[in-house]
Amino acid sequence: MSQRELFDVAEVGERKVLPSAARASSRSKATPAPVGTGPVGETCRTCAHYTRVVHNDYSYPKCGLMQADWTRGPGSDIKASYDACRLFEPRTTGPDNQPTKE
Ligand code: SF4
Repeated sequence: MSQRELFDVAEVGERKVLPSAARASSRSKATPAPVGTGPVGETCRTCAHYTRVVHNDYSYPKCGLMQADWTRGPGSDIKASYDACRLFEPRTTGPDNQPTKE
């Protein structure tokens, strides 16, 4: 078994991430993959899946890929500043994350 397999190190571009450590620092119910496993320099803010849900004059940042698991609490909230996960897709049409009404 190689050292890489032994420690389950995922390699993403220049960045090496220990999935278990990344998972521990991520909010696993909020993101489809550990934060920091996507393209270096990208964040949820620049991802096509970044969504803001508006409810009662507040908006809650969510990952659109996790919609089936959205809660009505902070458990499924993400932060725009999160380093992108490996399912990151660049936004192509400006801020297409207009608030959605619940
Ligand atoms: S990078 Fe995109 S797909 Fe990944 S958690 Fe953030 S918004 Fe979701």
